[in-house]
Amino acid sequence: MSVSTTSGTVDLRGRTALVTGAAGGIGQACALRLAASGATVRAADRDADGLARLAARAAGTPGLSGRVESCPLDLTDLDAAEAAAHGADILVNNAGLQLVRPIEEFPPETFSTVLTVMLEAPFRLIRGALPHMYGQGWGRIVNVSSVHGLRASAYKSAYVAAKHGLEGLSKVAALEGAARGVTSNCVSPGYVRTPLVERQIADQAAAHGIPAERVVSDLLLADTALKRLVEPEEVAEAVAYLCGPHTSFVTGTTLTMDGGWTAH
Ligand code: NAD
Repeated sequence: MSVSTTSGTVDLRGRTALVTGAAGGIGQACALRLAASGATVRAADRDADGLARLAARAAGTPGLSGRVESCPLDLTDLDAAEAAAHGADILVNNAGLQLVRPIEEFPPETFSTVLTVMLEAPFRLIRGALPHMYGQGWGRIVNVSSVHGLRASAYKSAYVAAKHGLEGLSKVAALEGAARGVTSNCVSPGYVRTPLVERQIADQAAAHGIPAERVVSDLLLADTALKRLVEPEEVAEAVAYLCGPHTSFVTGTTLTMDGGWTAH
């Protein structure tokens, strides 16, 4: 096989990409980034208003060579999730939710929902996408994990368990897909500037009685060498890179974007 040595441009014209959690921060950035490379993006989310805002934003973005289609979907409906992935060339497992609570106070039903949305649904989405990917000998699975797929933090039992599971699932998909043109990788960021983190900052500021800026500097970024939040567009660029021309030998791995957190 030949690999282009002249250009790192990611050309996804003719490709269909399913991005889950696309109404929100990282997913929205991924949908716009992949559409900018020419993909037809199925933007899946349970937030129909957010999907409408994304569609309007995509329509108003100059130079978008692909397009964004709204796909309202609640991932707790696992059969619907699997069906939504049929025919996708690229699958970005991104949807997620968080609850910060000590284990002894953590509601079991919330633990179950987090595992369903963030681990079981990705399994079903991969399962739904693979027959088409295998049939054409090309597919890209990118799992938006987290530094919490590699490290634990107190009070995040469900989230940490789901993300560690997702890292494992991603590696299994890589091994099974290797001979059939399908790569599977994780992108694992530290704290990203999204609504999910804005909510955590507000909660922790109230809980500790300190200003939001101190929550970021003293709590969230305590273990991070680079003292800033990651931007959603930086994560989206990593996702696009893993779908591009120079990463067909990259599989079963994790692209960690944690500002040095796991270097400790
Ligand atoms: P976000 O809250 O901005 O977006 C998450 C999206 O998932 C929302 O649009 C929400 O509607 C959707 N979603 C949640 N439950 C769903 C369900 N049942 N069915 C369909 N859609 C559902 O969050 P984000 O920060 O953009 O997070 C995106 C991903 O990135 C998550 O997997 C998260 O764990 C991961 N991540 C985030 C950060 C961060 O600091 N923000 C860091 C590391 C990893």
